[in-house]
Amino acid sequence: MANDNKKFQAIISHCKEYGFIFPSSEIYDGLSAVYDYGQWGSELKKNIRDYWWKNMTQLRENIVGIDAAIFMHPTTWKASGHVDNFSDPMIDNKDSKKRYRVDHLIEGFADELETKGEGARATELLAQMDRLLATSDFDELKKLIDENKIKCSVSGTSNWTDIRQFNLMFSTQLGSISEEANEIYLRPETAQGIFVNFLNVQKTGRMKIPFGIAQTGKAFRNEIVARQFIFRMREFEQMEMQFFIRPGTQQEWYSFWKEERMKWHLSLGITADKFRFHDHVKLAHYADAACDIEYEFPIGFKEVEGIHSRTDFDLRNHQQYSKKKLQYFDPEINQNYIPYVVETSVGLDRTVLMILSDAYMEEDLSTADKTDSRVLLKFPPRLAPIKLAVLPLLKKDGLPEIARDIIDKCKPHFKCFYEEKDAIGKRYRRMDAIGTPFCVTVDHESKEDGTLTIRYRDSMQQERVPIDRIKEIIEKQIL
Ligand code: ATP
Repeated sequence: MANDNKKFQAIISHCKEYGFIFPSSEIYDGLSAVYDYGQWGSELKKNIRDYWWKNMTQLRENIVGIDAAIFMHPTTWKASGHVDNFSDPMIDNKDSKKRYRVDHLIEGFADELETKGEGARATELLAQMDRLLATSDFDELKKLIDENKIKCSVSGTSNWTDIRQFNLMFSTQLGSISEEANEIYLRPETAQGIFVNFLNVQKTGRMKIPFGIAQTGKAFRNEIVARQFIFRMREFEQMEMQFFIRPGTQQEWYSFWKEERMKWHLSLGITADKFRFHDHVKLAHYADAACDIEYEFPIGFKEVEGIHSRTDFDLRNHQQYSKKKLQYFDPEINQNYIPYVVETSVGLDRTVLMILSDAYMEEDLSTADKTDSRVLLKFPPRLAPIKLAVLPLLKKDGLPEIARDIIDKCKPHFKCFYEEKDAIGKRYRRMDAIGTPFCVTVDHESKEDGTLTIRYRDSMQQERVPIDRIKEIIEKQIL
């Protein structure tokens, strides 16, 4: 179990220093587990979102996208089970007053055991925890914490309260007069916006089962464990797809989507050994099969995506609560039914963190005569915030004009960046640090023979190419 907290902290600092991610409202000392994306972070995030959207909608004839509102009728959350079930078992340390999610507390302790070389004990502990969580046996869970003498990281004591459930939804008031206002929730997942629109989309889009509805958007959860950067936020973004199928075919589609989604993750240029599936022992209230795709972050293997076979749980409940039929007439078998659903749900922010973790590198470039190093982000070119930096060697002799001309030709097609300040080596390093895959340098030769130097971020190799081929070279790499 890799746990490279130093690297994790280095990534967090790098994100702040280079305009990727800032703590929210930082001038007021920030807001716990809430973050803002800066100029390069928002480009990276958008590129990942677009890449997902293209894969899930444009490249598939039977999936369409929607954009539902964050606020929904309050009964939605009663029907979905979130009002009654969307809670986590928590425990408080009586000395520090710090609250923990029980599974996180035990997992943290298991990580410590692992580091101390007690891997077998850690595995047994996690297996015991899974069994007890599956039956919601809080008394035995508490015993497990006591017997292992698990301590609070703040107070260092094992003085724990009993385990209790806390609902994770944020609520607010709709309407201006408080007595008349309705309590509504900020959606804790985007999925319900898809379920309540199932018939609207099916009818207006004349969709035939099997078909999917995709959407990306914000979700809100009052998470207890903060301190994990954008891995666990209180306001975050999901990219979800609900795939509506004939009942009885769920096992086949569940396997299909497990494989498809793993293919997508691998297409991001991350090696297969960094991923694994984790099958759920304790199933959520809506699922008949579920697994996570986990990525090996610097803080260990953790979930980036969930794939759930949700049966007809959601549509059936919405039908019951709304008293509106949510059924589909299947002409192939001449029957009406409530479709079953297989869901793929990936966190956009967690994917950003995964891409950053995989791309972040500190390279030692020292030679016999001098020490040197660089920090670079080896983003796949299609996800990089900036694709091309155009750098005139000097601020004179007509070089900036040539550089501007290249930018004007390329900027309608992909994101470019112009910079003329500082020595060229320094400018290259700055571009490495924000993950720009290609830099071109305009020099005096460019004026004479219409060529320039292209420099590749990862290999640092340079070659001369004709100026009028630049657009085509870059476009080939970012398709
Ligand atoms: P976890 O067990 O880590 O709390 P979850 O199983 O509750 O996650 P799901 O409800 O399956 O998560 O949500 C689907 C995806 O949404 C997750 O795989 C994750 O990528 C993302 N996600 C969930 N909660 C958060 C959060 N608080 N911050 C950032 N991303 C999140």
